[in-house]
Amino acid sequence: MNIRFEGKRALVTGAGKGIGYGIAKALAAGGAETTALSRTQDDLDRLKAENPAIRTVCVDLADWAATRKAVEDIGPVDLLVNNAGLSGGVSFLDTEEADLDRKFAVNVKAVVNVSQVVAKGMVARGQGGAVVNISSTHARLGAKNRTAYCASKGAVDQVTRVMALELGPHQIRVNSVNPTLVKTRMGKAALSDPTLSGSLLSRIPQGKFAEVEDVVHAVLYVLSDKADMVNGITLFVDGGLTAV
Ligand code: NDP
Repeated sequence: MNIRFEGKRALVTGAGKGIGYGIAKALAAGGAETTALSRTQDDLDRLKAENPAIRTVCVDLADWAATRKAVEDIGPVDLLVNNAGLSGGVSFLDTEEADLDRKFAVNVKAVVNVSQVVAKGMVARGQGGAVVNISSTHARLGAKNRTAYCASKGAVDQVTRVMALELGPHQIRVNSVNPTLVKTRMGKAALSDPTLSGSLLSRIPQGKFAEVEDVVHAVLYVLSDKADMVNGITLFVDGGLTAV
């Protein structure tokens, strides 16, 4: 399947590292005019050095007002990937308000904030569009020591469904892509917790974790016109983990 994005304008959040970095590079390689948004300028400089055509925007998504202004300044966007996310955590009994607030600010509220700005423009232009929210298998499966993360990813899937219902009539498709563990910075941190990684791997029917490319391919598909009738789904990229 040849998927190309010439003539499309794409925005990827959390594009400084890991999965978002891979998605931004792939969209640019596919011909999309791509903007990469993240929080650490050095990461964006590295991405820009590798891919001079990519525009970069440095903002902390936890800052609602600064994010809104930054995304408004980007201009029209046809393809949006809400990828930025925070993981980690402590036991349920030790979970503090600040942890919940931080995870929800980046993993959920920023998805709503960025998507509102982008989708209002899509609706006004009347040419449709596509949004992908990077969720997680932990939207469906519980994980010890991940109260805030699991709750936030469950919320992401529900935001996806509501957006799909409300924006579908404007030919704007909204889907979640839900990976299992990928060995990025975030994934490696999870791997250092043997109770999580050991039990997880043994439960994945294909017996392996996902690669960044596995997630990138799923994202490119749901963003593309090949997925024209795919709307409001949770696409698990998990080797069968959630098939039970
Ligand atoms: P990484 O930690 O490797 O990269 C996350 C990127 O998001 C970084 O560039 C980071 O910037 C940026 N980011 C984080 N917080 C903010 C913020 N407040 N404002 C702007 N940018 C921010 O994560 P992954 O690539 O592994 O994860 C990407 C997505 O995939 C997340 O939503 C995650 O929940 C999801 N996911 C990941 C899995 C995994 O195992 N890796 C499994 C399932 C889902 P900085 O470095 O400056 O903080």
